[in-house]
Amino acid sequence: MTRLDLFIGRMVSQRACIDRAIALTQGMTEPVFELGLGNGRTFDHIRANVHDRPLYVFERTVASHPSSTPSDEQLVLGDIFETLPALLERTGKKASFIHADLGGHNPAKNDEFARTISPLIEGALAPGGIMVASDAMYFDGLTELPLPEGAFVDRAFIYQKP
Ligand code: SAM
Repeated sequence: MTRLDLFIGRMVSQRACIDRAIALTQGMTEPVFELGLGNGRTFDHIRANVHDRPLYVFERTVASHPSSTPSDEQLVLGDIFETLPALLERTGKKASFIHADLGGHNPAKNDEFARTISPLIEGALAPGGIMVASDAMYFDGLTELPLPEGAFVDRAFIYQKP
C-alpha cells in the first residue's frame, strides 16, 4: 500500500462511518461532538448532514480552511482533556455522536493517545450513541460495530454505547 492508498482508505472509511453514525443516531436530540478540527473536512461533512442537533467542535488551535471554520458557538477551544469535561458540566448533555480524528503521523503515539482519551470519550457518550474513530479505542462498555459498506478494516472504527 502506498501512502496515497492509505490516505484515500482513511478518508473513504471516515465518510462511510460518519454517514452510518448519523443515520443510526437519527431522532436522538443530544449534541454531536467533533474532536479535532484540523483542516475542517470532516467538520464540514458533519455540518452538512446534521441539522437536528447542536454540533460542538473541539480543537486546540484553529487552522482550518476558511470555508470549514466553526462558528463561535460551535467552537470549543483548548485541550480536550479540559474542555470536554467542562462542556459536559456546562450543558449537562452527553453526545449522540462523537467523531474523533485526533492523531498524527506516529502510530505508536496515536495508540497511546487513544488509550488515554478512551475513558473520557466513553463517559461523554449518551446511551444509544455512536462513536467513530480513526484509531482503535479502548472502551470497557461500548460495543464495536461492523464497518459499513465502503469502509476499510483498520482505517476507521465504529462503536455504540448500549
Ligand atoms: N478530521 C480533521 C479534518 O477532516 O480535517 C483532521 C483532524 S487532525 C488529524 C487532528 C486535530 O486534532 C489537530 O488539528 C490537533 O490540533 C487536534 N488535537 C489533537 N489533540 C488535541 C487535544 N488534546 N485537544 C484539542 N485538539 C487536539
